[in-house]
Amino acid sequence: MAAPTQLRILVLDDEPFMVKLLVHMLERQGCVNVVAASDGAAALAMVRGAAPPDLILCDLNMPEMDGIEFIRMLGHAYAGSLILVSGEDRRLLLTAEKLAGAHHIRLLGHLTKPVLPDQLETLLGRWRPAPPRRAPAASAPYTAEELGLAIERGQLLNHYQPQVRVASGRVMGVEALVRWDHPRDGLVGPQYFITLAEEHGLIDALTRTVLTAALAQVRRWSDAGLDLRVSVNVSMLNLDSLDFFDFITGESQKFGVAPENIVLEVTETRLMQDPRAPLEVIARLRLRRFRLAIDDFGTGHASFAQLRDIPFDELKIDRGFVHAAWTDATTHAIHDASVGIARKLGLEVLAEGVEDEDDWRYIQRSGCDLAQGYFIARPMAAAAVLAWVGEHHAARRALPAAT
Ligand code: C2E
Ligand code: CA
Ligand code: CA
Repeated sequence: MAAPTQLRILVLDDEPFMVKLLVHMLERQGCVNVVAASDGAAALAMVRGAAPPDLILCDLNMPEMDGIEFIRMLGHAYAGSLILVSGEDRRLLLTAEKLAGAHHIRLLGHLTKPVLPDQLETLLGRWRPAPPRRAPAASAPYTAEELGLAIERGQLLNHYQPQVRVASGRVMGVEALVRWDHPRDGLVGPQYFITLAEEHGLIDALTRTVLTAALAQVRRWSDAGLDLRVSVNVSMLNLDSLDFFDFITGESQKFGVAPENIVLEVTETRLMQDPRAPLEVIARLRLRRFRLAIDDFGTGHASFAQLRDIPFDELKIDRGFVHAAWTDATTHAIHDASVGIARKLGLEVLAEGVEDEDDWRYIQRSGCDLAQGYFIARPMAAAAVLAWVGEHHAARRALPAAT
């Protein structure tokens, strides 16, 4: 691996003094290949030039093109890493971090002015060489026709991610997450085809495929002695027709899976014309004791209006308000408010995106009932679930207990 000292580093700041200071600090750390720019346009020219930087230290507050605009302009063209430098408040930094993430720019962290050499050294230590670019085929958009054929030909399959009770660590259920087993591109994630399905009238066929496979699977686990609840993602568009109600109740009976063990995770979609239309279907599903969860709570798609209108059983706090939520006062406040409103409405709370032990301890303290995330387990093939649950329970693979 190239040492950070060999990196081509670009310092972007409008204050000559700051540039000088940062370049000096970098050189003190042994960096030999440092260049500077005093405005965004000059920096962009370097990025697009023959020898683009591996790492950019970027000031947020600049008079012409500010740091936020600079990150947007960098967009997907830049393959290197980024360190933000700012005297601004944390919320602005968070916005910049989100933006960098949205553009898949690897952010090493931020430095607050006045910059200390130790801080800089820590961030430089986080530098890693860029991973090889994803095969272009995988990110290529698919056509509705291809997706339609894939559904017909049975190329969609479910992976399953465990959900555990926080107090005991016991596995309560799994969320079914669809993948496309593409003959050319391999296993393709749902972010590449769910919107396509919604826009081209394929979401009903897709959801039915996922649901049938999930219930058949729960039946098999149950026959093998493992009773699990299964959560299925349902688009509001699915809930627009009474056929869907008949379909779910039919499949539930066919596979002998009780409605109480079937969780429908509902998110709003921008495509929804009339949000009142699905209410009848939802009310009837609830009457039959299917479990309803509001997904991605805290994001624009899951709103208070939905909470008011739909008799949910479970609230899933979006991972944006779980992972590292304890590091930021605003995120923390939204997390706590979400738990609070769930309590008042008598809903169970599930924290999504529990990625590390710090997250796990945080949600224990905040009072979440259920948890899901990489810290517990990644989504896995159906065939791996039985063994994983057995191991998890037997070894009491000690998820740290409440303290
Ligand atoms: P979601 O419903 O929020 O599902 C959770 C997503 O978060 C999954 O991504 C999962 O792999 C990921 N995840 C789980 N734990 C962690 C963690 O600790 N950290 C992080 N960073 N991520 C974690 P996946 O499988 O790529 O699914 C993405 C989205 O696609 C889902 O988000 C859901 O909205 C949609 N989706 C998946 N399957 C279906 C489906 O059958 N129907 C519909 N309508 N949408 C689906
Ligand atoms: Ca979900
Ligand atoms: Ca979610």
